[in-house]
Parts: sequence; C-alpha cells; structure tokens
Amino acid sequence: MKANLIKSSCHCGTLKLEINAEPPTFLTNCNCSICQRYGSLHAYFHPDEVKILTKPNTTQEYSWGDKGLAFVRCGDCGCYSYWRSLDPKFTDRMGVNARLFTNLEIDKIRTRHFDGANSWKYID
Ligand SMILES: [Zn+2]
Repeated sequence: MKANLIKSSCHCGTLKLEINAEPPTFLTNCNCSICQRYGSLHAYFHPDEVKILTKPNTTQEYSWGDKGLAFVRCGDCGCYSYWRSLDPKFTDRMGVNARLFTNLEIDKIRTRHFDGANSWKYID
C-alpha cells in the first residue's frame, strides 16, 4: 500500500475512487470525439489499483462504436469519472478522469496531447 491514496470524487460525492498507486507522471489530453466533449484528462492505472466506492444503481455508462470501452459517470451530478474495458482481452488498464482528483494538484503534472481523433499517437 502506498503512503497516500489518490482520491477522486464526483461533484455530489456519490461516485468516489481510491487509487492505490503512485501519482501519474503525466496526464493525457485526448482529442477524440468523446474526450474533447467531456474535457477529461486521463491517468491510467491497473484496475486492481482502483477501488470504486459507490452505491448500486447510482452510476450510468456510455459506450458506442465497437463498444470496447464503457465511460462511467455519476447518475446524479453527471460527472464523468473513468472508463473501463469491455474487451476481455484488454483487462490491464483503465482510464481515470484526473479532473475529479481531490488530493492531487493536477496543474503540476505534465499533460501530453494524444491524437485519438486521427493518428492514435501522442503528438507532443
Ligand atoms: Zn455525483
């Protein structure tokens, strides 16, 4: 267990995360059709590192296209919290929206630009 858990909360507090990992070395600002709309900044973790604290039937999920990812948001205040894989072959990573972190100053973490709209590569 790390000294400090990274904590995340939606606006109303219904959907919280506790992440048992080192702070991310960078955050990903992606220009794909969903990330640009959410305004999200993603940090990536192994799903085993992320404890999801919420009550049953309080979250909503959105998925589209090939339905490889589900984007999970609070059903009450609507804040987008994380994506999880729906692909059984891709289980070692999840994306967490660092905008909802409550105990990390994300402005001090490097932001990388990811061209999810076109080349699917980092462009910085
Ligand atoms: Zn909420």
